Amino acid sequence: MERLTSPRTIKYIIEKYGFRFSKGLGQNFIIDESVLTRIIEGSEVTENDLILEIGPGIGVLTDVLCQNASKVVSVEIDKSLIPILEETVGHHDNLKIVTGDVLKIDVKALIKEEFGDLKPKLVANLPYYVTTPIIMMFLEERIPVSDLVVMIQKEVADRIVAKPSTKAYGALSVAVQYFTEPSIVTKVSRGSFMPMPNVDSTVIRLKVREVSPVELTDEATFFLTIKDAFGKRRKTLLNALSSGFLSISKSQAKEALDNAGIDENTRGEALNIDQFATLANAIYLVKKKEDK
Ligand code: SAM
Repeated sequence: MERLTSPRTIKYIIEKYGFRFSKGLGQNFIIDESVLTRIIEGSEVTENDLILEIGPGIGVLTDVLCQNASKVVSVEIDKSLIPILEETVGHHDNLKIVTGDVLKIDVKALIKEEFGDLKPKLVANLPYYVTTPIIMMFLEERIPVSDLVVMIQKEVADRIVAKPSTKAYGALSVAVQYFTEPSIVTKVSRGSFMPMPNVDSTVIRLKVREVSPVELTDEATFFLTIKDAFGKRRKTLLNALSSGFLSISKSQAKEALDNAGIDENTRGEALNIDQFATLANAIYLVKKKEDK
């Protein structure tokens, strides 16, 4: 078979298997060979690496992952792609294909079964409609992977790496930067996919932190603080914190802000992750005082 990135191959597959692209499942397959090279280089995949892939599609990325890594486990939701994958990548004896919805299957159990106590790298061209839920599921549930190297919509990647006091900076930036060290691997234009999506993409690498970058008294309060601070972006912190999920009064919010050394008129978007941690720890103490 010709290269899997070749539109001729894709046409052959579509005709042979009567395959129909599902927009709802975010099926945009890579047709640009250089994108594959950039993903492999960016994820620094070596022959010792274990890989978990989400959404192999017709196997374009799966094929190069199998050529470069020790073992690849790919999870695909669309059953109609399974016979196609058998033809395109079934010859790799270091590949296991699992059918299922990555958001519904027990990914921790799958990793344990396939990789034991070793942490694979997650490498994937993620379906657009579930990019953030998939990333946040891996981070919040602390699914044991060492890195997430994922192709996502450019705007989402921009939000993930954004710095304080920029338009793109928000709750997603702080949450992902808390769990990982993010970096941009490469930008990919919409013309590199078939069918062509309406958006450009970015490959991003999220290196999962072994040690927390900040000291937190209570992680749940930290996330609620971020949620409230960005939930009402135009409000001052004093107003945003006292009218959200934290359930604290204005005077409690003021006390916590004072204790954290943060001006009550500041907006959430100006705080860096260290300041959010200091603020969350102060809020936790103020709330605890009330419980007594
Ligand atoms: N890896 C291929 C490539 O790069 O050409 C295909 C990538 S395509 C953007 C996304 C793939 O994810 C599709 O094959 C789609 O069927 C699959 N997919 C969509 N939602 C999924 C889910 N919840 N769990 C597992 N796979 C999913």
